Amino acid sequence: MPPLRLESPVQYLKGVGQRRAELLAHLGIRTARDLLFHIPFRYLDATTVTPIARARGAATGEDVTVVGRVISTAVIPTRRGLRVFQCVLKDESGMIECGWPGRPFLERTITKGTLLLATGPIRHFHGKQLQPREWIVLGGEDEEAPARGLVLPVYPVTEGLTVRQMRALLEQHLGALLPLVEEGLPAAWRQAAGLVPLPEALGVVHRPARIEEAEQGRRRLAFEELMLLQLVLARARWLAKRSRAGIRFEVKKDLTTKLREHLPFELTNAQKRCLKEIVGDQTSAVRMHRLLQGDVGSGKTVVALFAMLLAVENGYQAAMMAPTEILAEQHAATLQRLLAPLGMVPELLIGRLSAGEKAAIRDRLASGASLLVVGTHALIQEEVGFRRLGLVVIDEQHRFGVAQRALLAQKNAEEGPDVLLLSATPIPRTLALAVYGDLDVSRLDELPPGRGRIRTAIREERSRPKVYDFIRSEIAAGRQAYVVYPVIDETEKLDLKAATKMAELLAKEVFPEFRVGLVHGRLAADERDRVMRRFRANEMQVLVATTVIEVGIDVPNATVMVIEHPERFGLAQLHQLRGRIGRGVAESQCILMPGAGSRERLDRFADTLDGFKIAELDLAERGHGELVGAKQAGPVELRYADFARDGELLALAHRLARETITADPTLSAKGLRPVVVEIGRRFERGLELFRAIPG
Ligand code: ADP
Ligand code: MG
Repeated sequence: MPPLRLESPVQYLKGVGQRRAELLAHLGIRTARDLLFHIPFRYLDATTVTPIARARGAATGEDVTVVGRVISTAVIPTRRGLRVFQCVLKDESGMIECGWPGRPFLERTITKGTLLLATGPIRHFHGKQLQPREWIVLGGEDEEAPARGLVLPVYPVTEGLTVRQMRALLEQHLGALLPLVEEGLPAAWRQAAGLVPLPEALGVVHRPARIEEAEQGRRRLAFEELMLLQLVLARARWLAKRSRAGIRFEVKKDLTTKLREHLPFELTNAQKRCLKEIVGDQTSAVRMHRLLQGDVGSGKTVVALFAMLLAVENGYQAAMMAPTEILAEQHAATLQRLLAPLGMVPELLIGRLSAGEKAAIRDRLASGASLLVVGTHALIQEEVGFRRLGLVVIDEQHRFGVAQRALLAQKNAEEGPDVLLLSATPIPRTLALAVYGDLDVSRLDELPPGRGRIRTAIREERSRPKVYDFIRSEIAAGRQAYVVYPVIDETEKLDLKAATKMAELLAKEVFPEFRVGLVHGRLAADERDRVMRRFRANEMQVLVATTVIEVGIDVPNATVMVIEHPERFGLAQLHQLRGRIGRGVAESQCILMPGAGSRERLDRFADTLDGFKIAELDLAERGHGELVGAKQAGPVELRYADFARDGELLALAHRLARETITADPTLSAKGLRPVVVEIGRRFERGLELFRAIPG
């Protein structure tokens, strides 16, 4: 028999026949290496086993962990028709009954003579009974209790393969496999992250003496996973910037200075900092690829306008694309206001214009008569051409596909315009690194002063009449209100019906003296736009809306937002919604009307207006899987790392990866060879990425 290698098919291992190999393949385990890297997803900590006699003395409801031999089993019916599997466990100190209501089928796995570990509360059920929440078959009739520590790994398994079988398989082969593993990460990286070497990490992950030891091992695996991903992202970024040199703008202090002089306000420090980063990119020889993140109202548009003017004063054109007509109009209006003192007027290119108007704008863009344009998807239509496009700004960038974003930049394929992406969806720094590792990120983490404060309050159902009275008084003072109803899934008819009903009720019975509108996701886009426009013009005082109210929609006169069933929204989503008020100078009120459930998270939300902080809370609450950001980036599949837990590791990996790629773009150093091999193993076409390109 040839010697065992990590690349050997798993079938090569003793105890793995054809059938077992097929089952393992379901879990993605094909080689010995795969088996070794199939790590537990949790552990059962039985280091604190209670002698059975003592467990019997525990109070009802108290949690105990016991290990004992099964001396009898039975399945008994209960009055409510539930069948209970029961067994009696015995150790040197005594005996105790265990019961599993509703699990008669356990009869087949837990048989007489089985050595069993069980954890759970003591209940009263014809005397004391342990009702295991967790249990593990430690061995069969003539097996001894494991001598080693009792932190038991629980592996992901598949039908036909039990956790116990998987555990046994790893137990059996770990000793032979571990010596084959070599550490592949440079020692400097491991030191920076404080990691144990790989063979040791795998050893403790599979066979920890203590839970903390297992976590040490997992961190080693997580770091490698994050590091390889960051290296790939850093390399992609390096190539993108290199492969097409950008335009090197110069600060001419012409239009940009004029804008600064005529600005009706001072830029915030955050705006100045972000602008500096952006100008730095624009004036460098490499192409800008930057994301400007900032809460609604943080002043992204102004920052973008400076960048646009810098392009224009260098003889280029600049275009800003927004996902909807109403947002495009809003931006055009903002720019128009700010540019008026400079005697400049931006073009507005949207689908709603007449064919003649559109053609005229296209002519002006093509000839270079117009230097600034704001628009929707209409901008990326084939007929649209620019004389010399130098900067592309994309608002609410996640609403566009990668291809659409690229299409606008393609309007000057020869020179490669700079690209500035705007987003009002704050993403925690950790996650931004993971999913936008290839972008530079600037954060506007400060709101302009003098903005009306938003107060957030939580109100009970019984206060509803008061809430409505409050809305009435605000409207009497000339203000407007949003009422948000959760329609999580716009295809969900029931939810939609509830929102529609709510609008009717408000219109007919609560506020018959005002005009009440409704927007939801099933309305056609132009109908939705029409309602929003009427609201903005104060032709409607109350707008009932599902979550579709545009991010970034600016109705400064709206000072109240009532959110029904806020417990059904994620915190980040609640924050997005709340950002639609507090846009004028008046103080605004966000009123949460929760149904049932814990209010703790809503309290935390009510306590802060900081979008980045809320994003962190949201991340901790939901994990990374559901975050918009994660979805946007497509599948970033991580097996060992967890964004919520490994933020620091990720930040470190991000920094190390950028440094490494800057110093050695193709990872050609000898010490990095194992790293490149691993990248090739994990990423499709990963090796291609690191091949040296000529020139
Ligand atoms: P965002 O696009 O980030 O939601 P905007 O750029 O639309 O925010 O800015 C919101 C409002 O705040 C606009 O009316 C803008 O003119 C104003 N604004 C921007 N920056 C400042 C500032 N530094 N001080 C005062 N007002 C500002
Ligand atoms: Mg905006």
